[in-house]
Amino acid sequence: MNQPVETATTATSPRQGARLELDGLRRAFGAYNALDGIDLSIEPGEFIALLGPSGCGKSTALNCVAGLLALSGGEIRLGGRRIDHLEPEKRGFGMVFQSYALFPHMTVRKNVGFGLAMQGVKGAEADRRVDEALALVRLGSQAEKLPGQLSGGQQQRVAIARAVVIRPPVVLMDEPLSNLDAKLRLEMRAEIRSIHDQIGSTTIYVTHDQDEALSLADRIVVMSQGRIMQIGTPEDLYQRPDHVEVADFMGFRTRLAGRVVALDGEAAQIEAAGARLAGIAREALRPGDAAVLSVRPEDLVAVEEGEGIPATVASMEYRGRAFFGMAHAADGSELFFRADRALPRGASARLRPVAGRALVFRGEAQ
Ligand code: ATP
Repeated sequence: MNQPVETATTATSPRQGARLELDGLRRAFGAYNALDGIDLSIEPGEFIALLGPSGCGKSTALNCVAGLLALSGGEIRLGGRRIDHLEPEKRGFGMVFQSYALFPHMTVRKNVGFGLAMQGVKGAEADRRVDEALALVRLGSQAEKLPGQLSGGQQQRVAIARAVVIRPPVVLMDEPLSNLDAKLRLEMRAEIRSIHDQIGSTTIYVTHDQDEALSLADRIVVMSQGRIMQIGTPEDLYQRPDHVEVADFMGFRTRLAGRVVALDGEAAQIEAAGARLAGIAREALRPGDAAVLSVRPEDLVAVEEGEGIPATVASMEYRGRAFFGMAHAADGSELFFRADRALPRGASARLRPVAGRALVFRGEAQ
């Protein structure tokens, strides 16, 4: 269900959208299932990040929603109507890619106006809408330049203007900031969220960068091997990952294999790497079960006294507020930790998780 071209809303005003439903999406490449049953219901105006490691199927999912790839199974509905049989241009979604995919011989104005021309919007109406879209991405003064005369960030803003000028119900973005340097990435991140809020379209944003997903999205969908592992708000995923793989992806770098020795509700004690450690159980566990304790580097601290994992420091680096290091436990496990001072390579250290910050999952560490 595309937004009608003659709608009275402007490129910058919020508009009524429709719920986008992905129902059992499957996509095979030969015998390989790149998407293996994706179920997701997205509210109008929501900003959804698809997050996961390289090869997990994020781009395949986005391209299926866009209509650039056919489904092997499942349905896509917008506002209750099936759209998976429609050609990409009939879906009317805006797309922004990592490579800006601008026409190099056309001015910024012509690039942005191209989609409108394809929809048959011409003359003063087209000019007005292009101006609005360029103002939205703060490129009004660059309209007559060619893409090659713009910086990378500006080119990506042209690509965003081109995607939103058609007033799409859904904007699809595939790693749009990957080609930009770190500083520009941060600036553009804020800009993308602000544009999303102004236009009111639903946005699906593919990234493998957890910071990007955390800072941009209303909900994050973590994928692995063609499946959804967890869906939640940034806070949910950051603090309460449901699976060890999600925890791994959300920055819980240290994974220690051990055994549950005591349980009290969700408070678990496990024996791992030569120490007895406290953590919060994220799955149903019983004493004696094999378990994995996951903890972030900032929450595994070098302590001078008391209990902790005996370890040997392998490397350290200064990161402004604290020192971060890597150490080995006696069993060879890698430990990523924080310290108040630099510890020399080869020094003995004791590392202890901050109370309440380590998570415990079922199963063996990999
Ligand atoms: P990245 O972050 O590296 O882009 P991704 O999560 O977006 O990864 P996809 O590009 O969706 O991953 O690919 C998912 C899987 O499907 C990968 O294993 C990939 O090799 C495979 N795949 C994707 N496109 C094709 C294709 N045209 N032919 C065969 N296999 C494909």
